[in-house]
Amino acid sequence: MSESYPGEMDGIEVTACTACPELCESRSRIVNGTGPTDADLVFVGEGPGAQEDEQGEPFVGRSGGVLDEALRDRGVARGDVRITNCVRCRPPENRDPKRGELANCKGHLAVELRETDPDLVVTLGKVPSEHLLERSVAVTKEAGDVHDARVGEEQYRVLVCVHPAATLYDRSQESTLAETLDEAVALAGFDDSADGQSRLGDY
Ligand code: SF4
Repeated sequence: MSESYPGEMDGIEVTACTACPELCESRSRIVNGTGPTDADLVFVGEGPGAQEDEQGEPFVGRSGGVLDEALRDRGVARGDVRITNCVRCRPPENRDPKRGELANCKGHLAVELRETDPDLVVTLGKVPSEHLLERSVAVTKEAGDVHDARVGEEQYRVLVCVHPAATLYDRSQESTLAETLDEAVALAGFDDSADGQSRLGDY
């Protein structure tokens, strides 16, 4: 089954898209997801910030550093997982993506998830959690909850997680992030991989 999406895609990469006029003004480039195209675990963030827009890669700023370190602590390398966003173009002044922009870009995400076919999707923060679950979400309260959610034509197991940046401003979120990532690693089967050996040695 094929999803509809605006713009042009090459596989799971968006190569050209002008569906969101304000974001086309504010972006330097389209920021596609990174990581294996058959990843068991996919993280979905909100959208590119300044550093992501500059470097063309999701989660490379301070919050990306927090996520990388938290994964490393669990024996998982950044290159083991796929990391992507709800919208692929940086909103102006780091505002939240608007409802229409999220809707415009959902077809791209649907293609990416369908082709990757992960065991688990982890939503990082309020915007992606609400976008995929299609309801309001109290992220801190619901962190660690697993739901089934439809994206495009397919159904996925979705784990709600706090945004990694939340730990930079509120130390009490560190344990919430840690416990949720413990759960993510287990649900995605990393605990069973390579006879319990970390994959970090591969990178
Ligand atoms: S955010 Fe997505 S839908 Fe909007 S212009 Fe960028 S690539 Fe296109």
